[in-house]
Amino acid sequence: MKEQINQIVSKYDGDRSRLMDILHDIHYKKGYVDEQDVKELADTLGVSVAEVNETVSFYHFYSNKPRARYNIYLNNSITAIMNGRQLVKEALEQLCGIPFGQVSEDGMFGLFDTSCIGMNGQEPAAIINGIVFTNLTPYRVGKLIEELKAGKELEEAIYESCGDGNNADPDIHSMVYNHIRKRSILLDRNYERFEVLKNKLSNYSPQDIIQIIEDSNLRGRGGAGFPTGMKWRFGRLVEGEHRIIICNADEGEPGTFKDRVMLTEFADLVFEGMVIAAYATGADIGLVYLRYEYKYLLKYLNRVLDEMRSENLLGANIRGVKDFNFDIRIQLGAGAYVCGEESALIESLEGKRGEPRDKPPFPVEKGYQDYPTIVNNVETLASAVKIIKNGAEWYCGYGTKDSAGTKLISISGDCRFPGIYEVEWGTSIREVLDMCGADDVQAVQVGGPSGMLVGQRDFDNLTNSELMKWYKPSGMMVAEKFFDRKLSYSDLPTGGSMIIFNNSRDLLHDVVMNFMDFFIEESCGSCSTCRNLPLIMKKKLEKIISGHGVRQDIDDLLSWGKILKVSRCGLGQTAANPILTSILNFRHLYEKHVQAMADYDNLFDINKSVEAANKFVGRKADFHHAN
Ligand code: SF4
Repeated sequence: MKEQINQIVSKYDGDRSRLMDILHDIHYKKGYVDEQDVKELADTLGVSVAEVNETVSFYHFYSNKPRARYNIYLNNSITAIMNGRQLVKEALEQLCGIPFGQVSEDGMFGLFDTSCIGMNGQEPAAIINGIVFTNLTPYRVGKLIEELKAGKELEEAIYESCGDGNNADPDIHSMVYNHIRKRSILLDRNYERFEVLKNKLSNYSPQDIIQIIEDSNLRGRGGAGFPTGMKWRFGRLVEGEHRIIICNADEGEPGTFKDRVMLTEFADLVFEGMVIAAYATGADIGLVYLRYEYKYLLKYLNRVLDEMRSENLLGANIRGVKDFNFDIRIQLGAGAYVCGEESALIESLEGKRGEPRDKPPFPVEKGYQDYPTIVNNVETLASAVKIIKNGAEWYCGYGTKDSAGTKLISISGDCRFPGIYEVEWGTSIREVLDMCGADDVQAVQVGGPSGMLVGQRDFDNLTNSELMKWYKPSGMMVAEKFFDRKLSYSDLPTGGSMIIFNNSRDLLHDVVMNFMDFFIEESCGSCSTCRNLPLIMKKKLEKIISGHGVRQDIDDLLSWGKILKVSRCGLGQTAANPILTSILNFRHLYEKHVQAMADYDNLFDINKSVEAANKFVGRKADFHHAN
């Protein structure tokens, strides 16, 4: 292997920052990276063994132990479970003769769980050796395993035709479906490939472009909502030998799959947006961070980049603009939700553990390799092209005053038409539910597990006078106020995920517990809050669900959730949201579970029991309000 490792490292010019690619290549050849490989890699790259080990051990899709010829990663997100994952899991265990987490003795099959793979509308789904298999059933996995055992190649074992649109392109050749259900100004076909780069860009100075984007009020579509024009302006102002544009294509928020569809159908628009951003900010290096789960798109995406190079839309003096030099490279991730956070993503791009950096400095000052770096989401970059084509005023004609334009929403769960909907900001939850054919809705998870679990009743947020409006003479609350809330930065912001749950779902046991498991699995472990509290909170929730909880447990969950907010990055800061927002909007479910223990609620009063001791030492203590 030593010689092969040397060859792989030289392919990347011995560049330490390409460690992710090097590890991918070793996995492709050998299936895993053992101790000896790590030592040889460390020697060849001139780094410590610990540094290589840190990267190998951090990512879900790297392994330091032998894996199987066919490694089956079955998605364990909530929609997979709602669509029969357990039966598929049991069938796989029986067919392969091993439980999940193991490799079969003959080394043929390995079974593993994995977090959301971006296929929420077509679950249960799995990734096998980088290929995505969707809509699995016990029958379908039975047929697949049988064919693999009979010696059929995995590529040939795709047991039905390809999905829609470019999924049938020979360079993608995937059974995945786009399911675009509603198109508006971003997804419409009123666009000629690369028309802004070819016909419009030279009409504008870089400052003009930034001004148009600022005037359009475009805000980051990944979820944070930072004004894009302002980010570009800051990026242009910071001095640096190089400037970097990064396209964040690491959409890992469970329930989100809109960027996958954008990259499948509108990759040219996304890359065109990167070139426009480079022109505006003076960047010369472009990087796309593509999540490992979308590896099946890599060949196709590289083809689009080659087509751009052949038309001088990438490279030197782009379209005749002197000294406008810019090119794009795609970096494949290796499975880590936290890499969606921009500084973690940059660490990963440098070949390190995807651990978020302390801020400041922000990436725009000191990002990739310490150069000024602008990180934009896939949808943001594509939207910028349409804005430059049609103007800021045109764009502001859609959406609301504080939220201009449209938003792509990935809809899944209990509805008849899951898929991608492009809606104007300002659209209400109720309108979205009508569009996708959702009946008997109990709750909607807006913005993925880090977002909000919302229900029809949202009375906790109402003032008394508002509350009275929602009472019927019978005294019954019949309001459906929450579903009238609108998708917008001022009301209900979202990165683009909506998962719908009907009244047959057990929200606490199935949904909230699943989301907590997700955060426990995905924490990078750097902050003690994020490393420990989600697990402790989940245990407390288990106690409540099992009927052993008391009302104080609900209060504890609320106060521990606040502690999590001090964590370093968004993952920890939002890890309590599944519990906090379900207490906020579905408190009655918690109350029902603690009812049985109501008698125990006030039996023990700590203040009373230490009263004598406090008196003796002359101390005043109030344990209930200590925090
Ligand atoms: Fe890592 Fe969690 Fe801390 Fe973020 S909050 S840096 S994911 S431990």
